[in-house]
Amino acid sequence: MKTYRKELHFNLPTRRGYVNITQQVQTCINESGIKEGLVLVNPMHITASVFINDDESGLHQDFEKWLEKLAPEKPHSQYRHNGFEDNADAHLKRQVMGREVVAAITDGKLDFGTWEQIFYGEYDGKRTKRVLVKIIGE
Ligand code: ZN
Repeated sequence: MKTYRKELHFNLPTRRGYVNITQQVQTCINESGIKEGLVLVNPMHITASVFINDDESGLHQDFEKWLEKLAPEKPHSQYRHNGFEDNADAHLKRQVMGREVVAAITDGKLDFGTWEQIFYGEYDGKRTKRVLVKIIGE
């Protein structure tokens, strides 16, 4: 069995945002030389998500509106976590959007349905964060 590990770096200029990382993950698969296996992608942080959904800007605005209803950023004082920080909402948003993605690799490609795309979801940006890509297979 072969293994591959890489860290991707993201530094979004805004507090919240989404980045389609499907091509970057496919590049990792290409570099790994693995044709049949699994790829795990997860942020190495607790205020960001990696998830699969549609690359459609209306949907991304819907995520923003929905998450702000569930866990509004402000007022910061509404959260017990915000004693020394202001990112309680980011921890909560990440919790509902999920930590990681595991996807099948078949014949050297992400084995996806038509509309599946991998996203990095940022909820407390303006700083560099790491995303782990781990691939196993042969
Ligand atoms: Zn925090």
